[in-house]
Amino acid sequence: MLSTMQDVPLTVTRILHHGMTIHGSSQVTTWTGGSEPERRSFAEVGARATRLAGALRDELGVGADERVATLMWNNADHLEAYLAVPSMGAILHTLNLRLPAEQLIWIVNHAADRVVIANGSLLPLLAPLLPHLPTVEHVVVSGPGDRAPLDAVTGQGRVRVHEYEELIAGRPATFDWPELDERAGAAMCYTSGTTGDPKGVVYSHRSIYLHSMQANMGESMGLTDRDTTLIVVPQFHVNAWGLPHATFMVGVNMLMPDRFLQPAPLAEMIETERPTHAAAVPTLWQGLLAEVTERPRDLTSMARVTIGGSACPPALMAAYDKLGVRLCHAWGMTETSPLGTTSNPPSGLTADEEWPYRITQGRFPAGVEARLAGPGGDFLPWDGESAGELEVRGPWIAGAYYGGAGAEPFRPEDRFSPDGWLRTGDVGVISPDGYLTLTDRAKDVIKSGGEWISSVALENALMAHPEVAEAAVVAVPDEKWGERPLATVVLKDGAAPDYAALKEFLAGSIAKWQLPERWAVVRAVPKTSVGKFDKKVIRKQYAEGELEVTLV
Ligand code: AMP
Repeated sequence: MLSTMQDVPLTVTRILHHGMTIHGSSQVTTWTGGSEPERRSFAEVGARATRLAGALRDELGVGADERVATLMWNNADHLEAYLAVPSMGAILHTLNLRLPAEQLIWIVNHAADRVVIANGSLLPLLAPLLPHLPTVEHVVVSGPGDRAPLDAVTGQGRVRVHEYEELIAGRPATFDWPELDERAGAAMCYTSGTTGDPKGVVYSHRSIYLHSMQANMGESMGLTDRDTTLIVVPQFHVNAWGLPHATFMVGVNMLMPDRFLQPAPLAEMIETERPTHAAAVPTLWQGLLAEVTERPRDLTSMARVTIGGSACPPALMAAYDKLGVRLCHAWGMTETSPLGTTSNPPSGLTADEEWPYRITQGRFPAGVEARLAGPGGDFLPWDGESAGELEVRGPWIAGAYYGGAGAEPFRPEDRFSPDGWLRTGDVGVISPDGYLTLTDRAKDVIKSGGEWISSVALENALMAHPEVAEAAVVAVPDEKWGERPLATVVLKDGAAPDYAALKEFLAGSIAKWQLPERWAVVRAVPKTSVGKFDKKVIRKQYAEGELEVTLV
């Protein structure tokens, strides 16, 4: 029997209309670096998004399914593109402005973007790429920044350049939004590509709508129109973890840092605008902590912070506890929209009892089914001990990549199981009450004498040492054991390395056979374009003899 319920599509258009009317007075504040930030109500954002859709269709000829890319910071104009482009039936493609030029060129060509909306301050990055982007016909420039870098390409006539404000000015405040299939593509992101070429994930209207509802549930981020969220995680990184759509849906005020992502302006933003929530990767919170330790600022408005993208060192969580800021660990990936787990402890526990739950990656919501695949392909029990590769499925999880993966010999079966689950490449354990603890990326795990050593456990233990600012541990070849850990550490100002002491410190919490013999001090841990430890680079530095390694 079929149900008797209405079959109304779940679309971004619905989020746009609802947010701009019911929550019309909620605000988007964009930091300008000057004395006054720029403030726009949801009603204004919605009206401007409507005009943008009209301009893209009528002036630029953007049709259904065509890709409109953005090369932008987190700001109100970018939010307008987030709402307008999917709602008009086109595909929003957010470009990662930290990628090397060759990868950006590869991605734009693979997606066949027709339009790029770019912030003025990013034109020096975009202009030299344009001759290599044959599908791009229009560049729309928004916000401050010198337009001169585009002069050379406009002279050639292939690419037309528009000013965002001029394009939307005077346009009708209405648009005949199409009736969309909820399964149609709405937005796309490419994975950050630490191995091989990036792979494109195309989110549907339905997946964005359902993911937004999940993000707004108490077990995930649980924000309401009484909150203001500081969205530091870039809008080009998994749609800023889905926050712009989720918050527009329920009227959460947004504080957008634009290009002011350094610790000092962030600290100032938090003290003056008093957000109640924020979201960013651990590296960023490390930087902010160093800043406020040196120049104290009041961060206490920001009672809750969602932290993820890489493992959050427990020491960082403890340091923020002291500042009255609770970091809440979450796990996800580009392929999962990204909300997977969130580490809210069960109810009724004391602070001490909560701690072991808080440092896990967290619990899965109903929309994300999980299983652990063992090395032999068997599925492992949730006993908190059996480590396997995490596989997930659900309505906001990718089931394929966009248009194959180009030049790279990519085998879909490596990423998707025959019964349609996503193989995450993350290795971990799940406790009997459903809490996930990741011990490694499958490719980063250290296989020593047939046993696994968790690089993440070693890093977390090292980063709890008062002299250590950052630590990354990688597997290096070893004649006797196959692989052994190499510990690279960044020491706090002026400290001289005492490896024996560090090793002894580790022995307090790590089994003796897992302790690294190889040590090196580095000035900084190499990071990927989205701020994760780039272990590929460390392994290469080691292989090429660039690190000064001490045996202890
Ligand atoms: P991306 O697609 O760039 O967001 O990268 C996703 C990957 O980041 C995951 O597969 C994990 O390896 C890693 N990751 C994300 N969140 C966490 C977390 N809370 N703890 C550890 N690793 C994480």
